[in-house]
Amino acid sequence: MARYELYDEDGTPTNDWCPECEETFLANHEDRRHCGRCGYSETVE
Ligand SMILES: [Zn+2]
Repeated sequence: MARYELYDEDGTPTNDWCPECEETFLANHEDRRHCGRCGYSETVE
């Protein structure tokens, strides 16, 4: 299982679990987070 971008540069976990899958991390983008598994996305405030 590939490990990708789970942590920020300083080692802080920045990804949250997808509320739909509950077993997939949301991928961080500039203004939103996206689940590559189910397509769930949310705006980052
Ligand atoms: Zn998902």
